Amino acid sequence: MQQQQEAPGVLAFQQAVVQHKLVAGRCRKCNTLHVPPRPLCGACSSLDVATEELSGYGRLLGVTAIHLPPTFMQREGFGRERPYLAGVVELDEGPRITARIVCMDALKPEQIAIGARVMAMYSERNVDGKPRTWLAFGPAPQTHGSVLTRGA
Ligand SMILES: [Zn+2]
Repeated sequence: MQQQQEAPGVLAFQQAVVQHKLVAGRCRKCNTLHVPPRPLCGACSSLDVATEELSGYGRLLGVTAIHLPPTFMQREGFGRERPYLAGVVELDEGPRITARIVCMDALKPEQIAIGARVMAMYSERNVDGKPRTWLAFGPAPQTHGSVLTRGA
């Protein structure tokens, strides 16, 4: 039962990513934000949760170089000699999200500044012949503001 309740929220998140948007679920009762959105508030168990678009900006809390990538990434050339980065981002709106980190040096993860401003980026890739959109985070421009387009 729980599994079925979770599905629409995660689906909404994935559908938003395809449109290059980042969404959360906001509980209308206690105001808690959940990423990805879920139909049941984890804080107060309310079912009154609305999907809300986020800015896509945040800061990097931690980052790890992955040397043993999943198969589809091995096909893209990632591996022991060419790691990729995964990190935890604290979004400006509060929630934390784990995602791939791009446009930073995976061979020198120790040189990546923790707390750095990052923004949501989207990449289109084919996985087993099907187009998929992936959410990642990369360095945000220093002068970011509301006029910048998200994920473009
Ligand atoms: Zn709540």
